[in-house]
Amino acid sequence: MSSVAPNDIADSNEATIREGRARARNVIRDWDLKRAFINGVWRDADSREVLDVIDPAKGDVIGAVPFMRTSEARQAIDAAHAAFPGWSRMLAKERAAILRRWRDLLETHQEELASLITLEQGKPYDQALREVVGAIAYAEWYGEEAKRAYGQTMPATQRDRRVVVQKHPVGVVAAITPWNFPLTMVVRKCAPALAAGCTVIVKPAEDTPLSALAAAKLAEQAGFPAGVFNVVTGQPHPIGEALTGDPRVRMLSFTGSTAVGKRLMEQCAATMKKLSLELGGNAPFIVMDDADIDAAVAGAMISKFRNSGQTCVCANRIFLQDGVYDAFVEKFVAASTAQTMGNGFLPGMEIGPLINRQAVAKVERLVENAKKAGATLIYGADLPGEGHFTRPLIMTDVPHVADCFNEELFAPVAPIYRFTTENDVIELANRVRTGLSSYLYSRDIGRIQRIADQLETGVVGINDGTTSHEGAPFGGVKESGQGREGGHWGFEEYLEPKYLNYAL
Ligand code: NAP
Repeated sequence: MSSVAPNDIADSNEATIREGRARARNVIRDWDLKRAFINGVWRDADSREVLDVIDPAKGDVIGAVPFMRTSEARQAIDAAHAAFPGWSRMLAKERAAILRRWRDLLETHQEELASLITLEQGKPYDQALREVVGAIAYAEWYGEEAKRAYGQTMPATQRDRRVVVQKHPVGVVAAITPWNFPLTMVVRKCAPALAAGCTVIVKPAEDTPLSALAAAKLAEQAGFPAGVFNVVTGQPHPIGEALTGDPRVRMLSFTGSTAVGKRLMEQCAATMKKLSLELGGNAPFIVMDDADIDAAVAGAMISKFRNSGQTCVCANRIFLQDGVYDAFVEKFVAASTAQTMGNGFLPGMEIGPLINRQAVAKVERLVENAKKAGATLIYGADLPGEGHFTRPLIMTDVPHVADCFNEELFAPVAPIYRFTTENDVIELANRVRTGLSSYLYSRDIGRIQRIADQLETGVVGINDGTTSHEGAPFGGVKESGQGREGGHWGFEEYLEPKYLNYAL
């Protein structure tokens, strides 16, 4: 029987990673992803300065995009403003046809897009491919929705009057997106906005601008007219100030942290912009005594570790009732031990790197703080030697005063808390200032409904660790933001009702 030496495995892994990175770098080269897209023109920053893009798994430079500031943001606003009358007056079915072509191009190029996401964001390739499939679903949904901006008529209060309510696009939309789903976040905002007849200016995250530029390349091929879809890359503050301060921009659609969301909301106040804010979460993952423990462990693995724990809906606090505590912990540790971590281009990887060094430093701070407060580390995986990886960890007996009770870990670190009664866990779950998503495992329908009714979150996953659905209203309450993305709720965000009162 032949055996494979560890060095041979390492060599073959390196070769696989090299091939994966080469495929993604070919996309960057062949698609020429090094310029921003304003008014239908691919262009550099006025200053010619560039911003390096880093592979978080290796820590090396993989590309560079224009480092733009205020003046380029203003040029994008000029373009989007000028393009708005033509785009908004097009027939809905004409806009739908272009969106459909964009959707089809995303599908045709799904493997190239997934490679690009793995390279610039780090998530394992299979998860990157699922992200692209999610983006396609949003483009498809809103291509269809474009034709359904229905108005209403309503009974008048006088015989010689008629009352009609029409839906009109909001206008120019600024879309500021995060790095954790660098393609889906762009499509989830732009597809409904474009379907409604708005024009958009995207400001992608500095860490992951390439996926947004790839989306723009395909949008250009799909046939969006010049100025309808713009991408400005560069420095967040001046671009953000230009976009939020200009009265011609009528809406800000932002996904990112609560802190930045609040700041942008303040900046938008002076021009009274419409806002859609998808902000941070701090999801409770609740397992009741009567739950199916295997299903709960499987759900926790997905909810906690998907995208290396860097999703806004990640289980941030795992609450176990006394009766299932020991059994859940044992099975959860066993499942965690079986997880694979490494470069996202290696087949079968489940956990990739964190996005950057600051993210690694933040999780180290939160883990140290929890340990000092009295938490026990019961599991820690080994680290690959390079890039921005952090050790997947499980902590038990985490005191509620630990910082990670209130802050998003945004890492593959699972803090476990014990509770005794239904009321205790509802109070604990709701004790935080955010309210995006929560998870509940139980087999008692009455208990499920009772608890779900009281959880202060916009989304509740019941006996399921995933909640994504392009047709559902995704969004949070409290400091997790306002507005919804997905389904007709996400479409309505980009429409303003106009009420016409007719005297006959
Ligand atoms: P972030 O730091 O708030 O950044 C989000 C976006 O805002 C990036 O494009 C960033 O640009 C930009 N930005 C930062 N400061 C700005 C400013 N002063 N003016 C204008 N733009 C500014 O958040 P992140 O670290 O990228 O993303 C993680 C956060 O997003 C987490 O809290 C997560 O929960 C949340 N999130 C929420 C949802 C949801 O649907 N609710 C989905 C995904 C993520 P730079 O990258 O260039 O700094």
